[in-house]
Amino acid sequence: MRNDDYSDDIDFDRDYDTIRQIQPQSPRGGYYIAPDRRRGARNRRRGFLGNFPAALAAGILAFVLGCGAGFGGGYLKWGYEKPYTVDLKSIKAPEWIDQNFIRKNIFSRPDVSLKRVRNIVIHYVGNPGTSAEANRKYFDSLADQDPQKGGSSSSSHFIVGLDGEVLQCIPVSEMAYANAPRNNDTIAIETCHPDETGQYNQETYDSLVKLTAWLCSELDLSASDVIRHYDVSEKGCPKYFVDHEDAWKQFKKDVKEALKEMK
Ligand SMILES: [Zn+2]
Repeated sequence: MRNDDYSDDIDFDRDYDTIRQIQPQSPRGGYYIAPDRRRGARNRRRGFLGNFPAALAAGILAFVLGCGAGFGGGYLKWGYEKPYTVDLKSIKAPEWIDQNFIRKNIFSRPDVSLKRVRNIVIHYVGNPGTSAEANRKYFDSLADQDPQKGGSSSSSHFIVGLDGEVLQCIPVSEMAYANAPRNNDTIAIETCHPDETGQYNQETYDSLVKLTAWLCSELDLSASDVIRHYDVSEKGCPKYFVDHEDAWKQFKKDVKEALKEMK
């Protein structure tokens, strides 16, 4: 063999060891590969090394997307909706609210804690001329039903009466049965009315505005978070505010004004 000729015509199999010595830079630790096989090797190598960054990139991409989804979820959860800082249990009712809680029972006061209040829901009692106290008694009387036999289920956190009196039947930190399927994140206000139209007299109306504004202020809500029972379940309640959209808008304006004065 000639030392001056290690070119392409070399017999690689025969001169393997010699070639290995003079080709230390050969990519596979000295193994010299014939030109036709080298291409394949290079391709294979590129295949492996080429795929490695691709696999790594795919992994990084998956990781980033995963984190993105994680952060995204977190952002959706905590970004668009601010963390709830209202301590429902610590809310103290002013003296114009007559707190007289009904008995705990599965039909009207299930003793379930509210985690968060998102809306205040306005109702009308639908029983013309009845007093706030009569309605409170009715909610309380549901406790006397036999749980084994089942029965009626209904209640409200507040009732505004015909003389403008405000009764509280259930703490704002507890669930009432008035706004299904939104009982778990709403506060309910029942309102008395003199006749079938469901329109409130002035005393009732003024107290309803005052109570709603006070609740908004305590629960860190705005007038736009005040809704009708109708907006929850499309029931015709509170009748007058469902029949008269303008009266409903005016009520919300009045709540907004009252809320401004409280701040
Ligand atoms: Zn209702």
